[in-house]
Parts: sequence; structure tokens; C-alpha cells
Amino acid sequence: MEHENPARRPAMYALRGVSRECPENTLVSIRTAICQGYDGVLLDVQVTADGVPVLCRNIDVSAMSYAEVSRIDAGEAFAHKYRGEMIPKLSDALELCNSAGLRVWLNMELVSRDRERDVFLAGEGCSYCFRDAQQLMGTASAMPEVQLAYCGKMDDVVLRQISSLGDRLTIWTDQPQLSFLPVGQTRLVVMGVDSYDRLDEVCSRYAPAAVCTSGVVKPDVRRGFRADVHMHSEYSQDSTCPISEICAVARDRDFDLVCITDHCDIRPGHDAVSLLAYRKQTVAGIREKAKNADLQVLVGVELGGGFLEPALADRMVAAEDYDSVIGSVHGIMFRGVRQSTANCDFGQMDMQTTLAYFDGYLDAMLYVAEKLDVDILAHLTYMLRYLNGKYKLDVDWRIREDRIRQILSAIIQRGIPLEINTSCRGGVYDEWLPAKEIVDLYLEMGGYLFTFGSDAHVSKRIGSYYDEVADYLRSKGVRYMIYFQKRLAHQYSI
Ligand SMILES: [Zn+2]
Ligand SMILES: [Zn+2]
Repeated sequence: MEHENPARRPAMYALRGVSRECPENTLVSIRTAICQGYDGVLLDVQVTADGVPVLCRNIDVSAMSYAEVSRIDAGEAFAHKYRGEMIPKLSDALELCNSAGLRVWLNMELVSRDRERDVFLAGEGCSYCFRDAQQLMGTASAMPEVQLAYCGKMDDVVLRQISSLGDRLTIWTDQPQLSFLPVGQTRLVVMGVDSYDRLDEVCSRYAPAAVCTSGVVKPDVRRGFRADVHMHSEYSQDSTCPISEICAVARDRDFDLVCITDHCDIRPGHDAVSLLAYRKQTVAGIREKAKNADLQVLVGVELGGGFLEPALADRMVAAEDYDSVIGSVHGIMFRGVRQSTANCDFGQMDMQTTLAYFDGYLDAMLYVAEKLDVDILAHLTYMLRYLNGKYKLDVDWRIREDRIRQILSAIIQRGIPLEINTSCRGGVYDEWLPAKEIVDLYLEMGGYLFTFGSDAHVSKRIGSYYDEVADYLRSKGVRYMIYFQKRLAHQYSI
């Protein structure tokens, strides 16, 4: 395919930052674009009443002071994980973009003529994008040096009018099929490229200089990279695997990165102080022991039971500088007490009670998916390992398909990846968690973010069945998986 030839690859611009996964027009959406290898970003700029350019689209801030605007949390509404991500100043965003060599296009649609100057003063090095041809031409004569783009309604009359700008002008369009457009030229950017099929089509038919995507289509980076981002070490109570052994085995199996995610399982009435101390010791211990490893070793946490004590869960997450937080459920409150799934004797329960427990489990997963501050949703069908593996009850997940769909829909909305967990593969319950059919369902529903987790508790399980997972995802048209570093999503080609 043409875009896989680096010479023909168009530049990739992220719309409002990586707006599918992060709150749009925020610093975190820009940082994620940098992590994921984008070449540029299109951002929406507005100017406050006291003349400060800020990034924002959905709220009209033109009558507000900067002091007021700076108190608007742009992240919380998108996902709890992004709370405190405020509307940024243009100058702060540009500093970040410039430090990473990210090209910046500013959408000037929301800036009135008399406020444009404030943006030009702050926006050195940017290119400016207009939806209104008159405004574009006005700016062109006032600012003879800057690069400009037109992204409004296009017909041949408009094109004739703006063509006088020559090389200064780039045309952004979601209708590259219009016959009068400069197809195959350095001045064409195709917008709304939100599937790999569309990318292939656009590249082969129109050969644009760049494409713009909300984040579904990723730049091809780190090809052949391999990451296992869920495993346990000597610091989990249920594992004795030394860090040095984890590193050696992972390296031996051609992994470039592991994330060690020892358990923090929260129970009602847990003593926060000792839990915090234990986590601090774990994180410091892993970092120290992994110091000289010859692969990248990240430190995360598997937060179990966070739904039981959300405030404590938040505290645990905030207390350490984690690379990732995996959300999981290993037990629920059932008939007034916490009952761990692993220790529940489903052999002694009647089916009605067993299904009531299963429902409680799915409710807890839904809570994690919708509300908790997590980066990854772990082993979605963990319970089936016991129901169908240990107790051979032959429970079909489809009897709760509605609930599973709800959970998938929540993580899709929040940009939380679905973990493919291979800890059961090859055992009594010989499936991925979740099974391929649920992976298919997630894809059908519009999900596209995956992490791989062996959930190894012994070194021989590290990275197991990675190739099977990668092959399957590739066969479904998925091009990459995700890992988190400092809680920002990085992607790699599979
Ligand atoms: Zn787990
Ligand atoms: Zn685990």
C-alpha cells in the first residue's frame, strides 16, 4: 500500500490534538499527538475579552476574561482521568509543539477580524486556517509572510479567488474528489480521514501532502516493536518472580518494553496509610532493580476493587508516578461481604445465585469502565475463567451481551483500551480474556485501542501468545497497539 512507502507517506495531522482519545484542544491532546508520532496538529483558537489567545471550540470565551477561562476544566467532562486539564493558553501550547517540532495549524474561524492581531502576535511559526474566503484574503494582504490555508466550502469560483495566493495557500478539504482541486500537489490536505481504508483510498487517488484525522488513523512508527504491559513480580503477593528474571525472559523473547503492574487490591475499610507505604516500596523497588535492564521497564499498577472505595482508589493512583493504571475486578460485595471470585465456590451455588454474582461482577466492571481513573480495562471476562474453567459451568457470555456492550461502549467513549489478556490461554479455560468474539464486537462498535497483557505471575508466561494476538488483530485490520508511559498513550505498529 502506498502510504507504507515512506517516500509517499503523507504528513499526518491530528485534529484538535488526538481528540478521539483525549479532550480536544488541550495540552494532553497535544502531548499524545507527540507521543504517537503525528507531524502536526490543527487547533481551534479564540481570544478572551482581555486579549489572550486560548485553545477552545465548544464554549464562546470572547466575552470572558482570561482569569475566568483559565478556571475552566476541559478534561473532566471527557473523562475523569483528565480532570484538571484546563483550557490552555495558545502560547503554552505552542511552546510544547515547538519543543517537539510539531507543525501547528490554527483554525481562525472563531476569531473576529479585530482580534486576529492578538493571535498573530502569539502564534509565531504557525499556519492559519480560514473557513471564510473574505477573511482569508484580508489576512493575506495584512500578513504577507504567513502560511495560510482555506478549509471552507469549495467551488471553482472560490478556488479562482484564493488561488492568487500561490504557494502560500494550502487547501484543506474533506472532498478531495472535486475535480478542480490541485490533486497530487503539496497544497492539499484531506480532512476526516478516520479509517485505514479511507487513508489507503485517499493516498492512492489524491496523493495529498497531508491528511487530518481525529486519531483513529496513526502515523506508522516503531514498527516491529513488542510490548507486554500487564505482569506481576516478587512485589505482588501472588508472585515470586524476580525483576531480573522478568527482564531477562522478556528480552530473550524479543520484547522491547514491559510494564510491571503489581496488584493494589482495595478492600472496604483498607488502611490507606499502610497501603500507600507498601505501594511506595514496590515502585521504588522495581525501579531500582530494573535500572540496568536492556529493555524498557515501566511501572504501573493493577488497581483491583477500586469501585469499592473510589476515593481511596483515586488516592492510590495519585500517590505514585505510575506509567499506567490497569482497572480490574477480582471480587465484589455479595450478600453483604466481599467475596473474591477466585475463592468463590461456584460448584456449591445454584445457577441463579451464580448468575447474580456474575451480574454483580459486570456491574463492577461497568463502574470501572465509566468512572474510575484508569488507563486500561483488564481481563473483561475474568469470571469465565472460574465459571467455565474451574467449575465447567459452560456459561455463555452472550446471556449478558447487553451488559458487555455497555462496558465496551463506555471504554470506547473514554478512549480506554481493551486489554487482550492471555493468562488463561493454553489452560482449562483456553480463551483470551475477553474471547475473540468480544474483540470482534468491540471492533464492530468502533473500538480500536488495544493493549497486550500476558498477566504473567511466573516468568515462563511473559509475553505468551503475543504473536497469536498480533496476528489476529492484523487480520482484522488493526495496525497498532498501545502502551502507556507516564499515563500517556504511545502506539506501536504490530
Ligand atoms: Zn487481575
Ligand atoms: Zn494481573
